[in-house]
Amino acid sequence: MSNEIFLNIHSVIPFSKINGPGNRMVIFFQGCNKNCPDCFNPDTHPFDILNLYSPKDIFKKYLANGIDGITVSGGEPFLQHKGLFELLKAARETYGLSTIVYTGFTYKELEERPDYLSCLRFIDVLVDGRYEESKKEKTLLARGSTNQRFYFFSNLYTEADFYMIGKVEFIIGKNGIVTKTGFSNMRASG
Ligand code: SF4
Repeated sequence: MSNEIFLNIHSVIPFSKINGPGNRMVIFFQGCNKNCPDCFNPDTHPFDILNLYSPKDIFKKYLANGIDGITVSGGEPFLQHKGLFELLKAARETYGLSTIVYTGFTYKELEERPDYLSCLRFIDVLVDGRYEESKKEKTLLARGSTNQRFYFFSNLYTEADFYMIGKVEFIIGKNGIVTKTGFSNMRASG
């Protein structure tokens, strides 16, 4: 029997320039129970199975030339921590990609969960905390609200690298479907 782990994924944007430094593949996990008012991605909240992919499937299907790293967002990535671990490990060890994870948990909350913490060894940058509309980030720093903090676990990036060229990006897919992504109130689309 296969021990392959599958992730419930909302959507993947193969190429983004505003979800962290450089050219990034952005992976939106499906399922979040934090209900932050005015969350940017409410479509990612239900725990219904949408797209089941193994980490290997994701790279095979979506990894494009010229990608510097992956950005994992959601939804809540740590609620699928076993698959998250495998995804991050493959990104770094198999593909040599940098890894950024946005989570609704605070770092302190993660510290209370050793099973979640194990993922940190494969994360270059963690951005923590729930979205708070009253503290909305007004600059081009790549976060939703100013309570969210950057944790740098490697020397690849500094906070200066997280000032983006814009807040929202429109991506036109091969099928002509336009996807919006970024750090302004709008919905991710799959
Ligand atoms: S901002 Fe993040 S943690 Fe909050 S509801 Fe949205 S997806 Fe969940």
